[in-house]
Amino acid sequence: RFITFEGIDGSGKSTQARLLADALRADGTDVVLTREPGGSPGAEEIRNLLLTGDTDRWSAMTEILLFTAARRDHLEKTVLPALDAGKIVISDRFADSTRVYQGATRGDLRPTVDALHKLTIGREPDLTLIIDMDPAIALRRGLARSSGEDRFEDMGLSFQETLRHGFLTLARDNADRCVVIDGNRDPAAVASEIRAHL
Ligand code: C5P
Repeated sequence: RFITFEGIDGSGKSTQARLLADALRADGTDVVLTREPGGSPGAEEIRNLLLTGDTDRWSAMTEILLFTAARRDHLEKTVLPALDAGKIVISDRFADSTRVYQGATRGDLRPTVDALHKLTIGREPDLTLIIDMDPAIALRRGLARSSGEDRFEDMGLSFQETLRHGFLTLARDNADRCVVIDGNRDPAAVASEIRAHL
């Protein structure tokens, strides 16, 4: 089974991905916990290219190609081998992040995102947990742990609200695999609701 966590920056999705992996491992399940952008040595190198440097380092189109290239390497080297070995793969972000983030900044490029996905990735998660969260709280959390090195952070409250709307719309359009989880609660309560969904 391929499970992904999605949500805006500071939504707590990384914490929830880790808590779910811990809980499944405690039950004796073989779990690979991974993340995007990154999740394989090559994709982590591409992550560095994406997250560092000036905001105009890459054009929107080049950025989409880099996210997709990182995803292809992650899929080949980490996700598919683990699924083939019968493991559960939990990824902190996957293709939905590109649909929502790059869709929010450059909606006109969404057909490109979808075409590239079909051509080079072609795999959807079995289950996507979208951690929904008040952007004002998420933004404060995100900024609180910001290293200042991630050029995508600190893009403002209205951008976070656009992203939240993007994730909720995506969840509605992909109701077969997406579950929206209320993230505005303490992490243990959120984690137990997630386990109930499995
Ligand atoms: O989830 P994580 O903090 O590791 O993501 C790194 C950064 O990349 C985040 O600030 C996120 O907003 C951004 N991102 C993006 N487009 C994606 C995936 C992540 O802008 N497709």
